[in-house]
Amino acid sequence: MKKPKTTNRFCPYCKKKTLHKIKLLSTGTKRGTLKRGSLIRAKWRHAMPGMGNKGRYGSKPPINKWKRKTKSTKKHVFIYTCQTCTKSHQSKKGIRVSKVMFE
Ligand SMILES: [Zn+2]
Repeated sequence: MKKPKTTNRFCPYCKKKTLHKIKLLSTGTKRGTLKRGSLIRAKWRHAMPGMGNKGRYGSKPPINKWKRKTKSTKKHVFIYTCQTCTKSHQSKKGIRVSKVMFE
């Protein structure tokens, strides 16, 4: 999906149509990194020593990540930043697309 970098939109703070910058909302950190059985928690436990058999943490997973993928699309939420008051607000509903490209 192609999307322009700027658009004219209604700003709820200025209460009129102004120029807005569009950005994608990001989750920040990867989800599930601190779950039970995760690699990061194993590292904190010092479960991965430098020598010897590393057990379940030693080898790579049998199937690559890109092969395991089941969902081809993802919900994207846009952030609109007003150029006059520099305040930002989100789009009400996210849209399901595989990729968003800004032009
Ligand atoms: Zn504004």
